[in-house]
Amino acid sequence: MTTTSWHERASSLQIDGRAFIGGERVWAKSEQQFENLSPIDGRKLGMVARCDGADADLAVAAARAAFEDRRWAGKSPAQRKRTLIKFADLVQKYGPELALLETLDMGKPIKYSQSVDVGATANCLRWYGEAIDKIYDEIAPTAANSLALITREPVGVVAAIVPWNYPMIMAAWKIAPALAAGNSVVLKPSEKSPLTALRLAEIALEAGLPPGVFNVLPGYGHEAGAALGLHMDVDCIGFTGSTRIGKQILQMAGQSNLKRAWTELGGKSANIVCADCPDLDNAVEAAIGSIYFNQGESCNAPSRLFVEESIKEQFLEKAMAMMPAFQPGDPLDENTVMGAIVDATQLKTVMGYIEAGQSGGAKLLSGGRQARTDTGGYYVEPTLFDQVDSSMTIAREEIFGPVLSVLSFTDVKDAVKQANATPYGLQAAVWTADISKAIQTARALRAGTVHVNQYDGDDITVPFGGYKQSGNGRDKSLHAFDKYTELKTTWIQIG
Ligand code: NAD
Repeated sequence: MTTTSWHERASSLQIDGRAFIGGERVWAKSEQQFENLSPIDGRKLGMVARCDGADADLAVAAARAAFEDRRWAGKSPAQRKRTLIKFADLVQKYGPELALLETLDMGKPIKYSQSVDVGATANCLRWYGEAIDKIYDEIAPTAANSLALITREPVGVVAAIVPWNYPMIMAAWKIAPALAAGNSVVLKPSEKSPLTALRLAEIALEAGLPPGVFNVLPGYGHEAGAALGLHMDVDCIGFTGSTRIGKQILQMAGQSNLKRAWTELGGKSANIVCADCPDLDNAVEAAIGSIYFNQGESCNAPSRLFVEESIKEQFLEKAMAMMPAFQPGDPLDENTVMGAIVDATQLKTVMGYIEAGQSGGAKLLSGGRQARTDTGGYYVEPTLFDQVDSSMTIAREEIFGPVLSVLSFTDVKDAVKQANATPYGLQAAVWTADISKAIQTARALRAGTVHVNQYDGDDITVPFGGYKQSGNGRDKSLHAFDKYTELKTTWIQIG
């Protein structure tokens, strides 16, 4: 599709911002709405239901009713599998529409909405659908005159609260394992990008998911989100977002019914490039490509780059040569690789960090300014700071924008020490041709994922989550079922 036709499609797209509860589109009980603006040009896309506690009660009641009458939980794993695979097929069928909604709503390039976001969402639904009828229960080796069955049961009503940076993928990582396991779900998308989640609920219904099994509650975090966090009839909450709100979610769980609470939180990932790195070009490409992908709005973005002093000059020369390729462009242009920052608030945050970098003494090598200022949208140049040290704000705090901080080291052990000196522990990487050094460094890095001589390893089969204040759960892989199932032991007397 050409740029013109994406723009044409965008102008004729019908936006429906109503919630999805019990299989129906509804406005909030209070009739409150909020404006949904596109970060591409600041244009109003439509109005969205501003759900609150009253709507959360309705959505949870719909999910509970669906769970109790077993209309979904009571289906065999093979039946659930068929529905989830149909759901995945329909996500692909409606792919262009979903990609367009995602790009309009949060500003990422259409090229990636189509190839990455739609593809990964469909793949995730299909993978958990395929997995669920291949998991066997267990029999414990107990006494001869008894049988102890260890079975997995759905937890019940799962609330999923997700951020705005990968709206569909983050939703899929939660709803796919939760639904495959037989739970009913209430999904709360970010107020900044609710459109694809709402459309996914309609598509799920079309795929044959019974009404009430998957509900979507748009609204603000402190209203709709907190109502779910505090709800006495939500059995489990899967949260992805900032560490600040993640802490509140855990408190809400403790304050209410001690619902199982899983958090996937922020990051400040370290990428350590040693002088004996096997392929410097690859290392530069991965470092630059990964930080600026999705406008830097990725939890696992390698925002701290540690380069061994002896190769730093050469590394930075190659990095600088790549910067023009990441200049922000029109997200609806298929050649654009860096799009718009999600909204004015996030733009201000990112620009504030750039100022902090400069006033803190880091050397601005590239970028640092807003771009495309005549469009009405929110764009930031890819920004590169050299001479950063670990005490600076830009090296300590998650920026969640296209800003890379370069630090140097002479001893890899010292780099690891600095890499670990953060409350976060989501991802990290080390580049070296020395296998012992690679393994020792990977072992020493306190992160949920450590890459060796790459940064883009990503597959639905592997767990994704963090150490320390990057969260307490794991999305993706078979391990995600642990979050959305209870283990039951059934003792049976025999003979
Ligand atoms: P956020 O914490 O502000 O919001 C996340 C979600 O929580 C949104 O839906 C929001 O409406 C809701 N929320 C906000 N306040 C709430 C409250 N008081 N009660 C209940 N819900 C509330 O985060 P964000 O700005 O949307 O997303 C960016 C953050 O997400 C970054 O820190 C990023 O690293 C993190 N993230 C982590 C992962 C991961 O897998 N670890 C993945 C993507 C994003």
